[in-house]
Amino acid sequence: MKRIILSALGLLTLSGAYAQLKPEKMTPESSELWDPEPRLVTPGTLTGNLLGTTAPSDALVLFDGSGLDQWVSSEDAKSPAPFTVKDGAMTVAPKKGGIQTRQEFGDFQLHIEWRSPSEVKGSGQGRGNSGIFLQGIYELQVLDSYNNRTYANGQAGSIYKQTPPLVNPVKAPGEWQSYDVIYTAPRFNKDGMVTVPAYVTVLLNGVVVQLHTQIQGTTPYVGRPINKPHGKGPISLQDHGDLVSFRNIWIREL
Ligand code: MG
Repeated sequence: MKRIILSALGLLTLSGAYAQLKPEKMTPESSELWDPEPRLVTPGTLTGNLLGTTAPSDALVLFDGSGLDQWVSSEDAKSPAPFTVKDGAMTVAPKKGGIQTRQEFGDFQLHIEWRSPSEVKGSGQGRGNSGIFLQGIYELQVLDSYNNRTYANGQAGSIYKQTPPLVNPVKAPGEWQSYDVIYTAPRFNKDGMVTVPAYVTVLLNGVVVQLHTQIQGTTPYVGRPINKPHGKGPISLQDHGDLVSFRNIWIREL
């Protein structure tokens, strides 16, 4: 009798373990992280931050305002980049798709300036949304996060659906903002397993928002991060349907 009870208990434990192994049904909300909300910080003014600086001598200039010759369509690398260029800035052409650099990079330092539209439309993820995909895979979120609450791991300065920014130093819509990104690519062994994860440090308007943050894998809208082995990759900019602009983009491979 004792044995029967014990094996029944064993079966129960076993079925419990199986229940835990069952894949979790994920919705977009299940990877949203709302609290704590990153506190507001007012960034410094033009003097003393990196806005408007020109590229260092050993940088590859990816966009200086004159044209998109360093870029192609993300959907078809043989097609020209569909963003529009005007007044020294490039702007998302909604629904025409994202763009990516012709060249691919491993470890790098990236400077990029962005601006969300001065005419405020939408809310949450629907306002001034774009993104910078490191190696074409890992999204550093671009969003108008000025008086626009959304989940913390989806606001400007977040590694999308992973790590919220340490603070929120965004400027008002219509103002230029800067990202300075220091990124080391993940390393994989011959079986395709991650041996060293990717790490990223990000300054938003001269304020640290990610400090040696481990990137856990891909940054999907729904689901958990996954890791697939890859080599060098491009910098990609997202078309999320909003008129987000970019300028003064340069990179130094490390
Ligand atoms: Mg985005």
